[in-house]
Amino acid sequence: MKYDIIVIGSGPGGYIAAVRASQLGKKVAIIEKYSTLGGTCLNVGCIPSKALLDSSHHYYDAVHHFDIHGISIEKPTVDFAKMVARKETVVSQTTAGIQYLMDKNKVDVYEGLGSFVDATHVKITKNDGTDETIEGVNIIIATGSKPSTLPFISIDKERVITSTEALKLSEIPKHLLVIGGGVIGLELGSVYKRLGADVTVIEYAPKITPTMDADVSKELQKVLKKQGMKFAVGHGVSSVERKGDEVEVKATDKKGKEVTFTGDYCLVAVGRKPFTDGLNLAAAGVKLNDRKQVEVNNHLQTSTKNIYAIGDVIEGAMLAHKAEEEAVVVTEFIAGQKPHIDYNLIPGVVYTWPEVAAVGKTEQELKDAGVDYKSGKFLMRALGRSRASGDIDGFVKILANKTTDEILGVHMVGARAADLIMEAAVAMEYRASAEDLARICHGHPTYSEAVKEAAKAAWDGKPLNA
Ligand code: FAD
Ligand code: NAD
Repeated sequence: MKYDIIVIGSGPGGYIAAVRASQLGKKVAIIEKYSTLGGTCLNVGCIPSKALLDSSHHYYDAVHHFDIHGISIEKPTVDFAKMVARKETVVSQTTAGIQYLMDKNKVDVYEGLGSFVDATHVKITKNDGTDETIEGVNIIIATGSKPSTLPFISIDKERVITSTEALKLSEIPKHLLVIGGGVIGLELGSVYKRLGADVTVIEYAPKITPTMDADVSKELQKVLKKQGMKFAVGHGVSSVERKGDEVEVKATDKKGKEVTFTGDYCLVAVGRKPFTDGLNLAAAGVKLNDRKQVEVNNHLQTSTKNIYAIGDVIEGAMLAHKAEEEAVVVTEFIAGQKPHIDYNLIPGVVYTWPEVAAVGKTEQELKDAGVDYKSGKFLMRALGRSRASGDIDGFVKILANKTTDEILGVHMVGARAADLIMEAAVAMEYRASAEDLARICHGHPTYSEAVKEAAKAAWDGKPLNA
């Protein structure tokens, strides 16, 4: 078979590339080595983690917050197997949705491992050992990423686990040790903390979510600590040893002292690495960079011009929506259009509660770049909406250029921050000033009023409700 475009990998990068290419009139094939479509995001990433976050949130509210609202119930209990089964149902419904999209867009789906024969042919090795080779004028590599680990850690997938196993445990840990205070560590740590586990997060950097704005990291650590999560920041892990049903983690603190942590499970969440195993890239002349990512130019073209790469397998944030944007950009470029992507405006979200969200530059980045900026901050607790719901933790902080008032960065911790951040992204896409945002009428009472108030604080230093 000959195609205009072959996509290897069916995650949010791959399947969106297939849909968009089909919309643009291309004959498209997608190759996926697993039997379900959707990649990391739908099978073992975004969707199952959010399903467990939502379920555990309901439980936590029932235990800790219903009473405040005047609702009395018998002590709630967790049927963890049922919670995990619900998550599986959410996953299977969502992955089935991708199969529907492929059918609707007349995309040929091949199940098997894709590997390059040369720059225009891809061999698909199926699970039954047979293979088939297809031809493509253009090929998009969207093979994603896998969890990374530390050289001295042996992931046994039982007690020393990655996010994949953490999403399908058969019991709630008594004490979950989490190595890495990044997005996965805090989200999955939150799930088990809410369900009653002790959770200790061991983070190498001096703060959790080290790449986020410092104010955000500080506030997030404060609220998670209030929820009972324990933190050992500035601790470099040096060994992880399984001892029967226990795991012992040794780390060195800032002063060089060795500290030992003991738990019944250890989640290793120290980042993810690009996945190119089995692709036989050399046969197509596709090069990797020194971080083992597929090397691409500004058009996301690899060292072989008809082969493109998108998503987690290339440089940049490992986020589903980044992969999706790149998928659209690449397919439109192949179709002769002039698409555009602004990497500065890719929002980042952490689905703890309260949620954390950010877009644009952090204060540190502005300082490092020598930009003269001003900052406006508004606390969620000053909102009527927050007091009504009881979600009073967090803030919205807006950074704007001191001379032009253009918004340069927005950072927030608070209820529904994941959704609120999009107002900031839209404003920044249109290069709005803080005054522009402050003068837009916001519904009352909403959490979004914190964005308006923070914008006013950044613009003229005079929020109305503080
Ligand atoms: P992937 O989703 O990794 O898909 C790649 C696909 O390619 C896989 O299905 C793989 O089997 C297939 N493949 C690989 N090699 C071959 C081959 N040779 N032949 C055939 N098929 C192949 N991001 C967010 O934006 N929001 C979130 O809330 C979020 N939560 C996450 C939670 C967890 C626990 C994890 C682990 C990740 C999360 N992410 C989240 C990150 C997100 O999942 C990834 O950024 C996203 O899936 C990357 O998409 P992709 O298309 O590049 O690759
Ligand atoms: P991450 O990069 O977010 O966090 C890894 C953390 O581990 C960092 O804070 C790092 O300093 C720490 N670390 C590294 N080595 C360490 C060591 N030796 N000892 C202690 N700590 C150490 O990576 P992640 O949490 O594994 O997530 C992987 C990817 O998946 C991320 O790129 C993330 O964007 C994506 N993801 C996104 C979401 C979301 O968008 N909500 C959710 C989950 C995952």
